[in-house]
Amino acid sequence: MNRQSGAVLVLSGPSGAGKSSLINKVYDDIGECHFSISTTTRPIRVGEEHGVHYYFVSEEEFKKDIEQECFLEYAIVHGNYYGTSIKPVKEALSAGKLVIFDIDVQGNTAVNNRLGDITTSVFITPPTLSELKRRLENRSTDSMEVIESRIKMAKREMQRISEYDYVIVNENLDKAADLLKLIAITARIKMSNVEINDFMLKWEDI
Ligand code: 5GP
Repeated sequence: MNRQSGAVLVLSGPSGAGKSSLINKVYDDIGECHFSISTTTRPIRVGEEHGVHYYFVSEEEFKKDIEQECFLEYAIVHGNYYGTSIKPVKEALSAGKLVIFDIDVQGNTAVNNRLGDITTSVFITPPTLSELKRRLENRSTDSMEVIESRIKMAKREMQRISEYDYVIVNENLDKAADLLKLIAITARIKMSNVEINDFMLKWEDI
């Protein structure tokens, strides 16, 4: 990718960690930002809207986008394809915005490989495995089978928590939101490699 003036904030964590609630809570308090809406082949859930929560597409459409290199990154999560389109991310970064991704651990690795110098990553987790199970069951949007697979996945994802810059334990939504606000504001200050080089050149002014 070309030189960017914006920054990236990656949020990962098991479904049920409260990522969406946290993003909604801090969105208006962290300056100009762009939430990246992913494309997925997962079936739409009750209460979700195409173009708001995800772009819901068929597997055939998704594979066409892969061929046309439309994705910054994509991965198979819980048996479905999920991907981040490059174009809106590029536009938001050039406009100096903080681009927020809600993506899994594979996505975090891919984004760090491509945009690592301007990326800050946060892993959000419920305090315990039993609390995660309780939240997933209360959400009642998924079958028991799906819940079991999400729990298995969560255990695997937790193994990679050390790959993240920050961990937020979401026990109390207000406290977790305060932490996320601080991290998002700090993420903007991160200088890209290009900006550091430019600065170094200008700094030696005598
Ligand atoms: P859910 O189906 O519960 O909305 O999301 C399942 C998982 O897919 C979550 O961990 C979420 O962060 C991840 N995810 C959503 N969009 C993307 C994406 O574009 N890329 C990747 N790698 N993961 C995603």
